[in-house]
Formats: sequence, C-alpha cells, structure tokens
Amino acid sequence: MTRLYFDNNASAKIRPEIIEKMTEIMAVPGNASSIHADGRMARKEIEQARDDVAGLCGVGNIKNTQIIFTSGATEANNMVLRHFAAQDGAHILVSAIEHPSVMACVGGFGAGIPVDIIPVNSDGVVDLGALDAMLSEISSSKKGGAVPPIFISVMAVNNETGVIQPLEQIIELAHKFGAMVHSDATQAAGRISLAFDDLGLDYMSLSAHKFGGPQGVGALVARKKKGVAIGPLLYGGAQEQKARAGTENIAGIVGFGLAARLAQQDIKAFQGLATFRDDIEAAIVESGLDVVIYGQNAPRVSNTICVGLPDIPAETILMNLDLAGISVSSGSACSSG
Ligand code: PMP
Repeated sequence: MTRLYFDNNASAKIRPEIIEKMTEIMAVPGNASSIHADGRMARKEIEQARDDVAGLCGVGNIKNTQIIFTSGATEANNMVLRHFAAQDGAHILVSAIEHPSVMACVGGFGAGIPVDIIPVNSDGVVDLGALDAMLSEISSSKKGGAVPPIFISVMAVNNETGVIQPLEQIIELAHKFGAMVHSDATQAAGRISLAFDDLGLDYMSLSAHKFGGPQGVGALVARKKKGVAIGPLLYGGAQEQKARAGTENIAGIVGFGLAARLAQQDIKAFQGLATFRDDIEAAIVESGLDVVIYGQNAPRVSNTICVGLPDIPAETILMNLDLAGISVSSGSACSSG
C-alpha cells in the first residue's frame, strides 16, 4: 500500500539534495571554532548558511541582525520569551493560538509578570481591535510612571489552521505603543514570503524541518539593538556570538541553509498547492458528513486543511486514516500524547 504523508506541519519530508549535501559535510572533519584550515572551512559553510537563512527571512543586512542557530523553533521561542520575561517591569502579550513552546514560557518562567492573551476571531485571526484596547490600557495604566517594556508574540501562520496572521497591522499597532514584536514563523517559512526588515519585526523563530530541511536545527532572528542582547539559555562557549554555547551542528546548519535557499526559489510552486487543498476540502464537504472547515474565510497557507467532524472523535478518524495509509494530525505534535 502506498502511504500518503499529509502531516507536513508536524515535519515535512527532507529534500534528497539536502541529504546529499549533509552527508558530504558530515564526512569532513572540522569544528567551526578551530583556527586551522578545516575549522575555517566549517566556519565558511556556517556563514553561507546564515546568509541563506537571512535571504529567506527578508533580512537585508546581516550586520544589523543576529541570526542565532539553535536546535529548532522551540529553543528560539524559549530564548526570546524568557528574555522578555526577565526584563524589569515587562508586560507580555501573546496570542491565544501560540505554540506550546511560547505558551509554556509565559505560563511558567513568566510567573509574576503580567501576561495578556490576545484573543482570535472565529476564523482564527488575531483580533486587532482587542490588541489595540489591551495596549491602550497598559499604556494608560502607567501614566505618570515609567512606561513598561511591552513585548508581543504572535505567530506568522498557525500550525493547526494554516491561517496567516496580520503581522503588518500588529507591528504597526505595536510600534504606536513602543512595543517589541516577536513572530514564530515556523509554519510560514517557505510557504509565504517573510519580510523581517520591511515589516520592522524585532524577533523571529524558525525550524528547518518544516520546509525540507533536517530536524533539530532552527534559528532565532534578532534585530540588533544598542545595549540589548538576547541572553543565552546554554552557557559554556562563545559560539553564535556568545548567544548559544556548544559546538555548532554544522551538517544541520548547512542543510538548513540549503533548505532556505531552495524553499525561497520554490515559493510560487508551493503556493500552487492551494488548488489541491481546495479540491480535497470540496470532496470532504461533498461526502455529506457534518463537517466544519476552520479558517476557510481567512488568508491561509496553501498546504493546510483543518477539518472538524463534531460527531466523530478525532482519534477514531486518525486511526482509520492511518489504517488506510494516510498520515494526518489531530493537533500540534507538541501538545499530543
Ligand atoms: N512553533 C510552531 C508554530 C510549530 O509548529 C513548531 C513545531 N511543531 C514549533 C514551534 C517547534 O518546532 P521544533 O519542534 O522544530 O523546535
């Protein structure tokens, strides 16, 4: 039986040319921190990957922006959210639909600091009116006193519905109130154009395995600001401009860089998948079952279908599809058992 893999938001298939490139790199010795020729070769590969990731994110000048290689978006989200939570008097706002790696940071490490949840509408889009009201209230409550540092975290694309969030408007609003914005772009990379510089984003998280790269590698993109440095989660080495200690995962980083380059080239073709998405959704609706298609009225990425069948438990559907050779998810892999 040919299996159909429809779970690319959990992890997409790695591109064969990336396996080839990584295999080549793994066969070569070298630590990117070593000063000999082998070390310098490894360093060169990492810096090439950094340029390629910058290109995918819409970062024009790498001198103004730190691209810190991490083990994935979970680590990148932890780095930035825990940095926010450690700021004196910080006020954090996160959307109601963030990934567990964002939510866990504000729920746990952020205990004791004010955290507001920005609601989404019935299409799964962040409610801009509510965000405006929340920001106004935070600023007015501090009248006379010092304005607190305000941090907002809203994902670029939701992993379950594929709904694209209105980042441009969110950032515009945020800047009106002097707030900084982080976006978890894990599900957006390679699917829609990312415009870190043009949007004026402050931080962005990425993970390579969502768009053809290997698992276990990602990045935190951080706009450089005077006197502000994202603190490391890991200590014991000066790697990644002192932001992430430990020998670099050279093969993974190189695979990530190549995936970034290829994904950017193929973005138009990827968007063309929308016709398949629409055909599948139409067939599900025509089946006569009682179904709800979430996010259908909002801008969405082309590869995601989120269907609710109120009369049938999700686990039952998943198991039956699995037996039929089709892999799907009933939610984020990180929040399932
Ligand atoms: N953010 C989002 C939106 C995701 O979909 C995922 C992957 N499920 C992550 C963060 C975490 O990525 P990783 O597990 O590769 O660190």
